[in-house]
Amino acid sequence: MESAKLIANLTVHFVQMVKKILEAVAGFGETYDAATLEEFVSEQTRALGAVVLEYCWVLRCRESGRPRSVACPCGRRRAFKGRIERSIRTTLGPMNLPERFRYRCVVCGGETILGDELRGEGDFSELAERLIAYAGQAVGGMFAQASKTLKRFLGLEVCGKTVESICLRRGRRVIAAEERAVAAPHEVKPEENPRRIAVGVDGSLIGRVDPAHRRRSSAKNGKVSGKGKLANFWKEVKTCVVYAIDAAGKATGRKTYYSTQAPHDVFGHKVVTEALRRGLHTASEVVFLGDGAKWIWNLCAREFPKAVQVLDWYHAVEHLWEVGRAHFGETSELLTPWVKAREGELYEGRTETVIAAIRAMAKKAGMAPKGTAETDPRLILQRNVGYFTDNSSRMKYPEYRKRGIPTGSGVVESACRHVVASRLKGPGMRWDEEGAEAILHLRTLELSDRWDAFWEKSLAGAA
Ligand SMILES: [Zn+2]
Repeated sequence: MESAKLIANLTVHFVQMVKKILEAVAGFGETYDAATLEEFVSEQTRALGAVVLEYCWVLRCRESGRPRSVACPCGRRRAFKGRIERSIRTTLGPMNLPERFRYRCVVCGGETILGDELRGEGDFSELAERLIAYAGQAVGGMFAQASKTLKRFLGLEVCGKTVESICLRRGRRVIAAEERAVAAPHEVKPEENPRRIAVGVDGSLIGRVDPAHRRRSSAKNGKVSGKGKLANFWKEVKTCVVYAIDAAGKATGRKTYYSTQAPHDVFGHKVVTEALRRGLHTASEVVFLGDGAKWIWNLCAREFPKAVQVLDWYHAVEHLWEVGRAHFGETSELLTPWVKAREGELYEGRTETVIAAIRAMAKKAGMAPKGTAETDPRLILQRNVGYFTDNSSRMKYPEYRKRGIPTGSGVVESACRHVVASRLKGPGMRWDEEGAEAILHLRTLELSDRWDAFWEKSLAGAA
């Protein structure tokens, strides 16, 4: 009975609002921009939608009824304490939550609110918060940029500061879920069961603010402007990419990511968790791709002892360029032919020839005296003799090709660019630990195609 009345009311309300829209458009006059018309109708129908949503929600709440009490985790019951209406801001505009009921336990004081499920954690609806967090991780630049984008696409008024704090709160939930998964690896459900998977790991740097500076300037949460004389510093972000490969070593299906500033050992556990999600249990072969950094191979030996270790081709070639520039100089005509020749040797598996060439260059340049800058060509050459020697067992490229083992060629590098650089590196960008972690986690969630699944929550609690 009551719902029939509600539906009749809504219909009347709806017709009135549509009439108003039509009248307003009639008053536009003879000349107006066509896009203005569309924008106006779009705005007005959003407001209309907010009314419909409110009716829908009230109907739903009334159908599920209001219990006299609800169970309390302490074992007692929480008694009904009254209705507390409130308004929230949805993607359709402001809306009331009239059927909102408070319950309280007399024993432990615990409280439950029913009829609040449309709301997120603050003044916005759950969906609005998800979209705000989505924009915060996706839109480059300062959070104010995300705020402008939301205004333009959704008509949602939310300031940059609020975008930032919603990202932080949502990011914390992703981090907490990741920590639970790491703590219980046997409960990680594989999303697929490929025969072979590849795991790529790399590090990159982001601009960080000095934590002491943060405390002194009392700036809160997330990104902090780089003002002031106090030192900024760089912080390494570790990123992994996991994907299934076919018999030829070609990537099949989607790539998934994980990124954090956490120490190497913590990161190692997360890489395993990500690999478990992608079918590590059942994969008969794991290929581990990385740059030459020692921590990466330590991680591989510790967490993936049976993996085939491959020095990412892209990084190997990068190092040849570094050597060439140190020896010939950036502008020399000899640079490119030299690099190309060594690249060919690496490709053919003649690693020893490459090492001999670099060693000869290092010898000719001589030892750098103590205290020389890291960028000194002599040091670069010496370092690279070490780099290629230490990694020679991971540079059997002809063998990898024959066995259908991927050699990287940019997958690992572009993972870093994709997850980290394209959002967290920009002119003047400085992050604090928590803000960067939140955005990294939101980004890997989205880029791994897990965004919707992660936030979906059952409405069962409303019943
Ligand atoms: Zn209780």
